[in-house]
Amino acid sequence: MRRVTIYDTMARAARVFAPRVPPRVGLFVCGLTPYADAHVGHGRSFVFFDTVARALRRWGYRVFYVQNVTDLDDKVIARAAETEADPLALSDRHFLAFVRSMHRLGATAVNYYPYATVYVPEIIDQIRELVRRGDAYPTEDGSVYFSVAKYANYGRLSGQKVEALLPGARLEADPRKRAPEDFVIWKAATPGEPEWESPWGPGRPGWHIEDTAITTRLFGPRYDIHGGGIDLIFPHHEAEVALAESATGEAPLVNYWMHAGMLTMRGEKMSKSVGNVSSLDDAIDRFGAPVLRFFYLNSGYRSPLDFDPDRSLAEAREGFERMARPADRVWELLERDGPERTGRALTDGEESEVEAVVERLDETMANDFNTREAIAQLFGWSRRVTEWLPQRNELSGEALEMLYAPYAWAQEVLGFFPPSSTARAGAWAAVVPVVLQARARARARGDYAEADRIRDELKATGVELEDDATGTRWSSPGA
Ligand SMILES: [Zn+2]
Repeated sequence: MRRVTIYDTMARAARVFAPRVPPRVGLFVCGLTPYADAHVGHGRSFVFFDTVARALRRWGYRVFYVQNVTDLDDKVIARAAETEADPLALSDRHFLAFVRSMHRLGATAVNYYPYATVYVPEIIDQIRELVRRGDAYPTEDGSVYFSVAKYANYGRLSGQKVEALLPGARLEADPRKRAPEDFVIWKAATPGEPEWESPWGPGRPGWHIEDTAITTRLFGPRYDIHGGGIDLIFPHHEAEVALAESATGEAPLVNYWMHAGMLTMRGEKMSKSVGNVSSLDDAIDRFGAPVLRFFYLNSGYRSPLDFDPDRSLAEAREGFERMARPADRVWELLERDGPERTGRALTDGEESEVEAVVERLDETMANDFNTREAIAQLFGWSRRVTEWLPQRNELSGEALEMLYAPYAWAQEVLGFFPPSSTARAGAWAAVVPVVLQARARARARGDYAEADRIRDELKATGVELEDDATGTRWSSPGA
């Protein structure tokens, strides 16, 4: 199997990847807290980890990719109270919208999205074990706290010192806690909120414990790769290590910790209070899924990335088109004539050139998933294909398929769709809403025959419409 190196946050170095039980790979990535629609920052992290799973699978690893859903927490409850919604129905709705956005972006590598609340029995078991071992303690109000002092390696992942967390520095003193750095793993019920019975009284899970209960259940006490945004290293991932290793007595919980850099909005941190949060779906509508995906991946995954519609996104659109245009030309010929088309074959020299390009793409991705460098190589390949294009009419179907091989690689690993269909998807994204308005006007004036005709014509081009009480939705194979 291909030699893969991964930058491991815990080791602060790149390490050769060795799964515990090859070829199986357990991959867990912290998922969404669906109290609101996903934003463009979520897209970055999840698109990147999608390529990690895709690449590992290409190389023969059997990846089981789990991404949890924090379907209940303080934010979900607060938002539900504002809108007088049921908290779990609210998070369900946002999560389903998120999955649809992920599919639009081609991020389909996740095998299982566990809801945290489905794992309450496992969470209670893990807390009970921590209490039994003396690593956690119930308080009078019916909550349970983890005792950080009981875990000797606390701070190793993040490089944080516990002393830096003492009151006055970061934490408010809380009379229920034995020590200020202790954190809650079971929250006593507040009237009106969802609650579950537990040995400590009715309540609900704290945040950190949901991941460790889920992974212990699905992967066992240790697994291969844990991913997430860099902002989750502390306290969330630090807490996970402490909880799981204390509860199971086995270490390390995770062999490789991967963290994706933050997305800024025109140079600033995205935040609800500043009001500069851009929804993921809006960005897909505006820029098209292929361009947005290209934008995310055309950066080192650990570096910050700036989302600026007038600059970085405009550059991404230009770059994506430059990379995809030669691919499109080759694809169109193949689509028209098929692989049986007659013509000249590639020479041995040309064939080995193509093979070397694909091999180098794999090597680049195997070097800590360097998507940016892989894209640079695809640019190089597109320049080369452009030199071939004048003679493209003389090439056989097989020769054209060879020329397409690096793009097929990009489709498989980076999730760039077949360029011709992505070009069409981009056009669809712009054109379909205009057509839908015409159809809505036809329906408004009672001309249902015209509305049906528009629907049938769209269907013939691969665009499916779905009408419901909220309006008309459309879908196509590429968008
Ligand atoms: Zn998490």
